[in-house]
Amino acid sequence: MTLNLLTIAVALPAFMGRVNRPARFAQAGVALQAAGWVLLLLSSLAEPSSWQDRVVSTLSMAGIAAGMAYNAIAFDLWCGRVAFARAPAVIAVLLTAGYGIGFDSYPFRVGWANGLFTLQMAIVVASLCRKPLVPVGRWRWLLVISLLAQMTVTGWRGVLGAFYTADFPNFFAPHMVNLFFGLVANITVVLSLAALLLAHRDEAARELERLATTDGLTGVLNRRAWLTQAAIDLTMGERYRQPVGVLMVDLDHFKQINDHYGHAGGDGALQLFAEALRAVARTGDVYCRYGGEEFCVLMNQADAAAVRAFDLRLRAWLHEAAPRLLGYALPYSAGVAMRLSDDETIEALLRRADSALYSAKALGRNLTLNPDELDEPDIQPSLSMRD
Ligand code: GH3
Ligand code: MG
Ligand code: MG
Repeated sequence: MTLNLLTIAVALPAFMGRVNRPARFAQAGVALQAAGWVLLLLSSLAEPSSWQDRVVSTLSMAGIAAGMAYNAIAFDLWCGRVAFARAPAVIAVLLTAGYGIGFDSYPFRVGWANGLFTLQMAIVVASLCRKPLVPVGRWRWLLVISLLAQMTVTGWRGVLGAFYTADFPNFFAPHMVNLFFGLVANITVVLSLAALLLAHRDEAARELERLATTDGLTGVLNRRAWLTQAAIDLTMGERYRQPVGVLMVDLDHFKQINDHYGHAGGDGALQLFAEALRAVARTGDVYCRYGGEEFCVLMNQADAAAVRAFDLRLRAWLHEAAPRLLGYALPYSAGVAMRLSDDETIEALLRRADSALYSAKALGRNLTLNPDELDEPDIQPSLSMRD
């Protein structure tokens, strides 16, 4: 088992290449556990109860317990949690200190160490059973199974060592618990390695999906992801007979911004616009960078008045923030299309919004146009907030 662990501890960093934080914690955890087990085997070479035995054995406990604490951090990170696994780390410190101090009593040190190892694993199991904050695969159940099996034999060894010391003189005794421990440890090393690699792959897949669905510059959805979501939302809107509106935005004279402030300046303006969308959007508003300096918002359960309110909030936000943060105003023109019939597709809605946007540009820019509202006498066709 120690050889297995050692091989994995060397192979993972050597062959996984550049990895991110959770995988680094997992690699460090495996390396620490491997070092711990090597030291534990080495301690049997020392004169029993000598100071060398005490030092090497205590260090071995530190390695194994710290390794589990590092792995617990990796699992937490993989489950989308930022809080560090504090309890396993505290247990690692207590375990090592108590073991070193109480080393002279064999029943105490075996009971103490194995009892706390079992508790440490129980805490990790409980944490793995909590609902992850990001969608994760089934690797955590593989770990839960491994840890439960390890807990059983470790707890068993603790009880034997502490209370039935004569039956369980040491690690190498031909006792059933040692046989089980050897078997369980070997199987769980393999299972844990599989879980670790699956978790790593899971995370890579999540990252790829994020990259495939978001716009790199602004962090909002890209056109493809937005169109997919919009099609789903339109189907839901149809089922529940709820109004849906689309707002299509094009920033005004953006070429001039690039000319005046450089491409990086223009990029900053696009990022600020995305921030404005985030700031004013409410639940049910789905927005994206449609392309270049064009953005689209799909509003679920929103009538024309709600779309108008969104547009006014957006303009008010930019009116306040753009001069302050960019040093100039960031006007835009926009076209609105409300879904008229249940079978209207997102493409048809976009065509109408785009044509309204084109009219808004033709009317002089810095305004939002909803052609359907033009017939209503009490509503102004233009919602502009010209500076
Ligand atoms: P109009 O009011 O008619 O929309 O004028 P405009 O200058 O905005 O015209 P147009 O839509 O044709 O120009 C869009 C410009 O946006 C052209 C392009 O260089 C710039 N642009 C597109 N994508 C980016 C980007 O990612 N970063 C920057 N800095 N500029 C971009
Ligand atoms: Mg444009
Ligand atoms: Mg433009």
